[in-house]
Amino acid sequence: MRGYLADCDIQAPASLAEALAVLAREPGVWTPMAGGTDLMVVYNAGRLQATRFLDLSRLADLRGIREDTTSLSFGALTTYTDLRDCRAVHQHFPNLVKSARVTGALAIQNRGTLGGNIANASPAADTPPSLLAYGAELELISPRGLRRVAYDRFHQGYKRLDLAADELVARIIVPKPTGRGFHYFRKVGTRQAQAIAKVCLAAYARIQEGVVAELRIGLGSVAPAPVRARNAEALIIGKPLAALPVEAAREALLDEISPIDDIRATAHYRKVVTGNLLGQMLRELANG
Ligand SMILES: Cc1cc2nc3c(=O)[nH]c(=O)nc-3n(C[C@H](O)[C@H](O)[C@H](O)COP(=O)(O)OP(=O)(O)OC[C@H]3O[C@@H](n4cnc5c(N)ncnc54)[C@H](O)[C@@H]3O)c2cc1C
Repeated sequence: MRGYLADCDIQAPASLAEALAVLAREPGVWTPMAGGTDLMVVYNAGRLQATRFLDLSRLADLRGIREDTTSLSFGALTTYTDLRDCRAVHQHFPNLVKSARVTGALAIQNRGTLGGNIANASPAADTPPSLLAYGAELELISPRGLRRVAYDRFHQGYKRLDLAADELVARIIVPKPTGRGFHYFRKVGTRQAQAIAKVCLAAYARIQEGVVAELRIGLGSVAPAPVRARNAEALIIGKPLAALPVEAAREALLDEISPIDDIRATAHYRKVVTGNLLGQMLRELANG
């Protein structure tokens, strides 16, 4: 049966302290709601049990993009439009701009948030591969205080997060790349726009004197959660650009993913495309 909004209880606290107090009083009872672009779809389809929503939209502490010398810190309520409009994001994190551009269309980009994309925990979401590639960290807040976790440890399985019932994602902190960087992002869907990813691969590499000094590869839609391709990364790091072990890395990558057949693509298709994207990324890396 479709959700009926009149049956819902919505609280819209004006301060973070007030929001945390609501969560502390009844942990697990109140579902945080940011832009509502994921929640309202499942609610409308009658697939959401929750009827009590904690509207985060008035929480100024969860807004804004802050820059310091070493990092950018994104409030969880940062929208895709905010990402697209921010010069520092274009300068330091072009993959995040690309992720934002291919997420839904303008209405979703105006309303959907980075925190919501992360906490919704879809394996097919578009910003997680870029956040993994850039080595992001999350700041989680609860009545017990702030805690910082590496984003690549936050997803613990399908829709399972290192997030307690009384915690909110407060900020997403992304270290600024240093030195000569290489950025790659590619989402493969049925169409160029308004499509959920069949495969998504984002990578960041730092090159030093012709050698790959640092590499992180983030993948979407090929496992129960967004994942790093750690074995493939390990094979490439330390190698000269002129002699990258592309085939060995491809084999390692295919061994560490576990795609499924679903309405969008088969597991076989996803494996072939993931291997091809890795090959394309490494060719572009080698060619400077
Ligand atoms: C037409 C359409 C197209 C879309 N296209 C794409 C696409 O191409 N790529 C893509 O990745 N997604 C897409 N989405 C999904 C969605 O828009 C994004 O995932 C969006 O970023 C969700 O953010 P939100 O603020 O709307 O989250 P909400 O719907 O408000 O919340 C989503 C989940 O996150 C939790 N949550 C939100 N904020 C916090 C917080 N600060 N702390 C703790 N938990 C929190 C909520 O409780 C809920 O479980 C699409 C959705 C629609 C309707």
